[in-house]
Amino acid sequence: MELEKLVRENIRTMKPYSSARDDFKDFDREMVYMDANENPFRKTLNRYPDPQQKNLKKALSAIKNIDVNCILLGNGSDEALDLLFRAFCEPNVDNVVTLPPTYGMYGVLSKINAVENREVVLLPNFQPDVDSILKAADINTKLIFLCSPNNPTGNCFSGEVIMDLLKAFKGIIVLDEAYIDFSQKNSWLAKLTDYPNLVIIQTLSKAYGLAGIRLGILYASEQIVHILNKIKPPYNINQLTQQKAIEELSDINGTMSEIQIIVDARARLLQDLKTISFVKMVYPSDANFILIQVDNAEIRYKQLLQNGIVVRNRSSQPLCSNCLRISLGTEEENQKLIKTLKSLQ
Ligand SMILES: *Cc1c(COP(=O)(O)O)cnc(C)c1O
Repeated sequence: MELEKLVRENIRTMKPYSSARDDFKDFDREMVYMDANENPFRKTLNRYPDPQQKNLKKALSAIKNIDVNCILLGNGSDEALDLLFRAFCEPNVDNVVTLPPTYGMYGVLSKINAVENREVVLLPNFQPDVDSILKAADINTKLIFLCSPNNPTGNCFSGEVIMDLLKAFKGIIVLDEAYIDFSQKNSWLAKLTDYPNLVIIQTLSKAYGLAGIRLGILYASEQIVHILNKIKPPYNINQLTQQKAIEELSDINGTMSEIQIIVDARARLLQDLKTISFVKMVYPSDANFILIQVDNAEIRYKQLLQNGIVVRNRSSQPLCSNCLRISLGTEEENQKLIKTLKSLQ
């Protein structure tokens, strides 16, 4: 892979905005700050946050065993994904490949960025169709999005399939691991240095229970991270988010036990759902949600809503006719769901 050729010309040649705090790296020393037109009287939150989020990256680096220079943080994963489009995809020229049924943001971002989205539907077993993907890709295909575990199907993609694509594709493979903490399968993070064209996306929104602080994490080669750093908004991760994330990551035992509770509840709910007469199919799950096929998704969706339960109707997606996606809740919530479904039989 030749990264220089993948990057858009205007991005390759631009000089990034130099923020006031970029020139001054030592955030821990007592200094007189007269460089950023801030209000000097307040004691907290009056200063611009660290544009490179060094302390937060150090915490992630220690947990994930990844070099800090291979980490880029986004205001949610969505911002990190958008940066990839803006760095690599020339509007109205380049294209990306996505594999529906999958996360809707890839398609939305391709529209926003005027980048053609070539959709290659998953095989009926919800695995990527490698031959069709490689046939759909051409010289202008910059990104292929793989979501594993996939939303909304809940399954992980096979390791061989991901490896085949990493080896055969000359552009960048974006592997979205938003749900990896709920899976028995290993993250691809350990193999990041083996594949210069691999970008891995994770988030604090799901397993870490911090959807409200908006923190997405991108792991990639230092070269890719360097390019994305040039175009990210300078202060994209606010001070409160950085503080809260560091606090949370300093003690991940609580998170780990919550994940275990959710995984245990998933096994029970999978069984319970199979006992409901109008549930035609219960798909296995490596995530914190379960995809089911029912007799009539629209009717069942509305009935659940009338009983105060909101699920996601995914029927409009390929391979998902009459499918509902149900997130795992607390034990009480899961039982309410099953009780309600039973009453609707
Ligand atoms: C929920 C989700 C995300 C997380 O997005 P954030 O912007 O980090 O909250 C990313 N990818 C997939 C596939 C998701 O389902």
